[in-house]
Amino acid sequence: MSRVLVTGGAGFLGSHLCDRLLRDGHDVLCVDNFFTGSKRNVAHLLDEPYFELMRHDVTFPLYVEVDRIFNLACPASPVHYQHDPVQTTKTSVHGAINMLGLAKRVKARILQASTSEVYGDPEVHPQREDYWGRVNPIGFRSCYDEGKRCAETLFFDYHRQHGMDIKVVRIFNTYGPRMHPDDGRVVSNFIVQALKGEDITIYGDGSQTRSFCYVDDLIEAMVRMMESGPGFTGPVNIGNPVEHTMLQLAEKVLALVGGRSKLVFRPLPADDPRQRQPDITLAKDRLGWQPTVGIDDGLRETIAYFRRLLEA
Ligand code: NAD
Ligand code: UDP
Repeated sequence: MSRVLVTGGAGFLGSHLCDRLLRDGHDVLCVDNFFTGSKRNVAHLLDEPYFELMRHDVTFPLYVEVDRIFNLACPASPVHYQHDPVQTTKTSVHGAINMLGLAKRVKARILQASTSEVYGDPEVHPQREDYWGRVNPIGFRSCYDEGKRCAETLFFDYHRQHGMDIKVVRIFNTYGPRMHPDDGRVVSNFIVQALKGEDITIYGDGSQTRSFCYVDDLIEAMVRMMESGPGFTGPVNIGNPVEHTMLQLAEKVLALVGGRSKLVFRPLPADDPRQRQPDITLAKDRLGWQPTVGIDDGLRETIAYFRRLLEA
């Protein structure tokens, strides 16, 4: 049994990771400031003897004894990370420094939840890990993109300078149950709008693309990465390479939910990437991993979750 710290553990991905780690027999400490996460996401774990929930902001130092750290703390939805951009950068950068400092003191292995946003609006397609990206340093998304890029830099400098055991995963768009209904990300927006019979809001002309990974596949890859050999630091892309335009996604959601929602077009947010698709060759080779859940099955599970939530 390992003692595992999950920062951002009460969020969408973090809460699924806590479930999985407990199932695997670990002792889990979930740390969260509940900015975008909620106690409800982990309420079912509160009576578990090997689960502990701590309210804490990772921009402040943390003193605990653990063997493994998954660093997920950071709002992920553009709406939320742009709400307080200075705090977003602090969370990524000061949060990384604090968690790396903790890992160094207790000699823990540490995994960073990085993002496909480090590639910005990419001119290389699909994106491989050796692509350096095209990121606007002063735009509305920069607090997140540059914060995550700086966190990667810190991870690799702690690795080179202090010989630390680091792992970096670059997560592409992931969806599933426990996304916040007001999260603002596209999958939750479209599903909630369709279930409520409201207009489906397409930003721009809907021709921009994303590749969507179901949460269970993503968690499997994160766990495999954490347990991969010490020589493998990443960064490694994890995501589902099947790419969709936002119009295709809207039509798919409408077909699965049914109802009479109309598609409406809204202005495209600044710096919205045109296309995004992971090259997952490295994850296949080094982790023996590839996604197994197709978009229709994943959307059905997610729709069922939001239906229950809205009816409650
Ligand atoms: P989320 O917003 O549901 O979860 C983030 C969690 O971090 C929340 O519980 C939030 O309260 C917590 N948090 C935020 N600031 C904090 C702070 N200063 N101190 C402590 N806790 C704090 O988002 P998610 O989708 O679960 O994303 C989890 C991680 O994965 C994030 O680091 C995100 O950047 C990364 N990621 C997610 C996706 C995706 O598609 N879901 C894609 C790329 C990267
Ligand atoms: N999007 C959209 N309608 C919405 C929400 C988002 O068309 O109601 C678009 C958004 O402009 C982007 C894509 O969906 O092109 C994915 O957006 P999301 O916020 O989910 O993630 P990210 O842009 O960070 O990949």
